[in-house]
Amino acid sequence: MKKTAISLICLAFIFNSCKVQDRVVIKEVVKTPEVIYPKNVILMIGDGMGLGQISAGMYHQGNKTILEEFPVVGIHKPAAFGKLITDSAAAATSFACGVKTYNGAIGVDKDTIPVKTILEEAEEKGLATGLVATSTIVHATPASFIAHNKSRKNYEEIATEFLATEIDLFIGGGKKYFDRRADDRNLLNEFKGYQLSHYAEQELDEIEFDPNKNVAYLTSDADPIPAAQGRDYLIPASKKAVEFLDKKASQGFFLMIEGSQIDWGGHANNSDYILTEFSDFDKAISAVLDFAKTDGETLVIVTADHETGGYAIQEESTMDSLVTAFTSTYHTGTMIPVFAYGPQAERFAGIYENTEIYHKMREAFNWISTMQKN
Ligand code: MG
Ligand code: ZN
Repeated sequence: MKKTAISLICLAFIFNSCKVQDRVVIKEVVKTPEVIYPKNVILMIGDGMGLGQISAGMYHQGNKTILEEFPVVGIHKPAAFGKLITDSAAAATSFACGVKTYNGAIGVDKDTIPVKTILEEAEEKGLATGLVATSTIVHATPASFIAHNKSRKNYEEIATEFLATEIDLFIGGGKKYFDRRADDRNLLNEFKGYQLSHYAEQELDEIEFDPNKNVAYLTSDADPIPAAQGRDYLIPASKKAVEFLDKKASQGFFLMIEGSQIDWGGHANNSDYILTEFSDFDKAISAVLDFAKTDGETLVIVTADHETGGYAIQEESTMDSLVTAFTSTYHTGTMIPVFAYGPQAERFAGIYENTEIYHKMREAFNWISTMQKN
């Protein structure tokens, strides 16, 4: 009798300790830190901005660039489908759609089949969206986020696609592709619910964006002029874009901002052109980073589509006086740096194909991937 009682007490004690241990385990599971996803993603593309351009731009600015404030750095492999040296259309389509495609392709795969872009998906999911560029807005880089065309050269066809997706904001050049067209349509009269203006009517700085409308502002008739000749809208446009989209979007936003003409300086083998365009883009990045730092819910990614010019800093250079050389008037195949700041930035460390930028942005948004990676 007595023996049994002691055994029972012993059993009860063991059982009790087990229960306590169970509870401890459960508590540890609960303690797992919560994963933070960004509300907003801003992709900034310096067209033709390789490490040579970044280095020269940095030295030219007294050994400083805002890119030094990005805690995560990665590298992407920029090759196109069927061609080692990519153009801006194939590269931007890789960022926008997650597919490798042929040079000249705008938002279509290697078989010219349209692929949904991250901007279109953001619209579908109720996010606000925007595009800002210092080229025409129908040029390869911005076009690849909103249009689907077998050729980057079909500017008028690409312009009509800005009516198909209800993009919340776009700022860039190329008014003539909207209002002086071969088909005699004036697309500017077809945008409904837009606060629409252009360079000949109003300065960008003078416009108060109405958050109850969408915004379209065309900065030039054809290509915008270089920064060195007085183009000065990228910085205010970037600031106004993030503030406007932030105000408009309760669920967050996707914005692509392009420093388009770093590439044009490379094609022209003109070092001063590269340096002034880099400086303009660097200041736009700074404005966006200021917003992201205050906001705390914004992921900022800065990269390039490819390098242009085979631009290199020569032995005779000093910090104040750069001597540079070019190996090409076209794009080169060098790998491209990626800078990331904000929630989920760590995803962008490492070396990966340019298509991964698309997948990493979607994963950062915590969108469940249904797409096969390639
Ligand atoms: Mg471009
Ligand atoms: Zn180019």
